[in-house]
Amino acid sequence: MAERVILSDELDVFHGKALRQSRTLLKGVAKSVFAPGKPVSNERRIWMALDQPTIEALRSRAAPVGLNFIGNKRVPAASGAELPLISPINGEQLTTLADSAAVDMDNAVAAARASFEAGVWSDMPPAERKRIMCRWADLIEQNALEIAVLGVRDNGTDIRSALKGEPLSAATTIRFYAEAIDKRNGEITPTRKDVLSLIKKEAVGVVGVIIPWNFPLMIGAWKMAPALAVGNSVVVKPSEDAPLSTLRVIELAAEAGMPAGVLNAVNGGGAVVGEALGLHMDVDVLAFTGSGGVGRRLLEYSARSNMKRVYLELGGKSPNLVFADAPNLEQAAKETAASIFRNNGQVCVAASRLAVERSIYDDFMHMVAEAAKNYKVGDPLNLAHTTGALANAAQLTKVKSAVSLATEQGANLFYGGQQLDIDCGGFYHEPTILTDVEREMDVVQNEVFGPVLAARAFDTENQAIEIANETVYGLSSVLWTRELSRAHRLSSRIKSGTVQVNCFSGADVTSPLGGVKQSGNGSDRSLHALEKYENNKATWIQL
Ligand code: NAD
Repeated sequence: MAERVILSDELDVFHGKALRQSRTLLKGVAKSVFAPGKPVSNERRIWMALDQPTIEALRSRAAPVGLNFIGNKRVPAASGAELPLISPINGEQLTTLADSAAVDMDNAVAAARASFEAGVWSDMPPAERKRIMCRWADLIEQNALEIAVLGVRDNGTDIRSALKGEPLSAATTIRFYAEAIDKRNGEITPTRKDVLSLIKKEAVGVVGVIIPWNFPLMIGAWKMAPALAVGNSVVVKPSEDAPLSTLRVIELAAEAGMPAGVLNAVNGGGAVVGEALGLHMDVDVLAFTGSGGVGRRLLEYSARSNMKRVYLELGGKSPNLVFADAPNLEQAAKETAASIFRNNGQVCVAASRLAVERSIYDDFMHMVAEAAKNYKVGDPLNLAHTTGALANAAQLTKVKSAVSLATEQGANLFYGGQQLDIDCGGFYHEPTILTDVEREMDVVQNEVFGPVLAARAFDTENQAIEIANETVYGLSSVLWTRELSRAHRLSSRIKSGTVQVNCFSGADVTSPLGGVKQSGNGSDRSLHALEKYENNKATWIQL
């Protein structure tokens, strides 16, 4: 039992805690958690169940076909067409999914619209919606390991990060918004005494949600949960590279009591069904996470159709600024490695650009390289590995090309740089550190979305700020300093949606996540996310 607990607790990878916790401490935690008479949380029970035989049993199950989910029914594409779904673990076909067309998207949007206008969800008392959403979160938690393994099989994230960052995170997010539904009031505006001026929050109607392949459940829940909480009906377009866990979770919503048509999913190619959703005349809001290129297209689709509101969570090239007075340089080095190597850097807020004060640059880079050795890359369902596969073949090619272009352009290959486990057919790559990079290099300006850290030294605070703000992106940033006034000063000068000081935590659902500049608009997470899916209805009553 002690061994199981150590494995599970090492796992808080998404929150950057894993590297902070020693095995000794974990043994202590295990003892205190399982002390007689002490209650064990649901989440703790799930971690206790994580062992290799259970994972292998789940892995050996036949992967389901990725069907569409419309009106609470699993349906194939109207044409019957299917796409292959490749597993990044070994490059082999895992299953197939519906290769839908615009007509399938029309059917899903029609089901969503009909449910919205019928009021089966939108007019349901908020406390009742809350009850169903909380039940949904419970079901996700009850099936967490099965959902996580299914997700790993199609996107390659290591099982520990997947369990924490996918079903468990999604359940937390769904509960957070469910619990908020019946605690928000409307407003009365302070106008003339002979008028009663009301602001009522109303659901917008039909919300389209487009999800990427990295952390599809976590990111999907950040959009589905607030949109549903305020009474909208939703149509999801899962990533064609990683749809299986999302589809399973959407089915569980129906099992929890969500009425037919309220939450639907349509699978298929982005350029076909994603476009159909973006261009649809009966979709009121579109919420997207993915690449900047597709984000740009969605804005065009909106302009060409019904001018629907479009919220974009796009890429990043987040800076990590390390000053010599950082409170704990060893900790900073470990979290610097975590910020770019966990999940192979396929994390929107990955701190892919490192800038270190020159006086500590050489020493610090060796500390980061030492920390990089902790990332054991391989089969993501093997608990001996901390890091899994890149999500698809294109992603592996992108990483390899970025590394070779960087060295051609003059960067120094300081650590890693090689593809791994080529014989198994999967998509694996070493954590890689490039030093002495320069502003003009592609690896500095363009998102790799892989385990590639681009590092250099700075001399002054102003230089550090210039480095932080030198790209078109502005999603997140990290800052290490002991000086409180510098932390505040720099935090307001760095152009990014989030600034993390003396940690790389990823923050939690209470804190907004959104980009500035070309990293997007609007924020996921926090109570503010509810506002994206509502209209302010003004009622002006002459008394
Ligand atoms: P992607 O843009 O290629 O695909 C995202 C989704 O858009 C997929 O479901 C895809 O099918 C769909 N799509 C593709 N073409 C489309 C089109 N023409 N019209 C409509 N939909 C279309 O992104 P990806 O490769 O799946 O994910 C990686 C990207 O996501 C990276 O750029 C990363 O930075 C970004 N990302 C951002 C955040 C954030 O919160 N800011 C989080 C995670 C990932």
